[in-house]
Amino acid sequence: SLGERLKTGLSRTRGAFAGLGAVLQGDFTDELEEELEEILLTSDLGMQASTEVMARLRVRVERDGLKGDGIRDALKAVLLDIIAPCEAAFEPGPGTNVVMMVGINGAGKTTTLGKLAAQHKACGRSVTLAAGDTFRAAAVEQLKAWADRAGVPVIAQDTGADSASVIFDALASARAKDQDILLADTAGRLQNKDHLMDELSKVVRVLKKQDANAPHEVLLVLDAGTGQNAISQAELFTRAVGVTGIVLTKLDGTAKGGVAFAIALKFGLPIRYIGVGEGIEDLQAFSAQAFVDALFE
Ligand code: GDP
Repeated sequence: SLGERLKTGLSRTRGAFAGLGAVLQGDFTDELEEELEEILLTSDLGMQASTEVMARLRVRVERDGLKGDGIRDALKAVLLDIIAPCEAAFEPGPGTNVVMMVGINGAGKTTTLGKLAAQHKACGRSVTLAAGDTFRAAAVEQLKAWADRAGVPVIAQDTGADSASVIFDALASARAKDQDILLADTAGRLQNKDHLMDELSKVVRVLKKQDANAPHEVLLVLDAGTGQNAISQAELFTRAVGVTGIVLTKLDGTAKGGVAFAIALKFGLPIRYIGVGEGIEDLQAFSAQAFVDALFE
């Protein structure tokens, strides 16, 4: 099952937290604090989030005089508190909802877009894809393959076409056909960062000419396996475009998952989905409880 696959994916982190039993034998000593902080760091929380988690844990431990397993449960509660607010699904409104995918090359944008197309379709929604990554030659072909798999139409132009105009035309077409969802792919790499961010803000600007509420969702796709790199990517993209949700991919691989807590603390954005494989069904709605459980079980 997907739940099992997530656990397997997070097994290294799970190993770290599951092994807490041996560490948590008695009082909350300095040595124990150091050991816990080390575990958080190796689980990809990063320095800032690890420090925050330890501070919150210390408050609980001192307030309630916790020891051993009590400390473990308090850590779990602290982690859950941090990511629980990130559990928020995207609810499509009336008309054509534009969902724009952003993220660097290789993060899993196109794959996630394909999985999402299949999910929306399974929910009875009509879906059109826009091949907005006009920079990478293979990107359009890859998107067409996902469109076939999901059984949805794709609007594309030649490589080198203007991304904003491809997505603008796709929206016109999707609106004319009363489509519920337009899923727009975008480039993950151009000549340089500024150029890429300019292009993404242009896409947003142009879409608004057609529908002031578009894009209705901007999903930032982050490879959870890149650890703290994911944080700097999030900084870059949230500054350039109004990101409304995060997708954490490749949690079935060697990713440790801690980056979710760092993102929650730093950006406070919803984590809409997690990617747990390369197949069309390997996308789960984010559940804070299931996520924390997977790290500890
Ligand atoms: P893009 O450049 O951002 O569009 O990234 P792609 O969608 O092309 O994905 C890059 C690679 O990551 C591909 O080989 C995908 O199959 C793989 N990938 C994407 N999401 C996941 C995931 O959740 N788990 C695993 N294991 N691989 C993934």
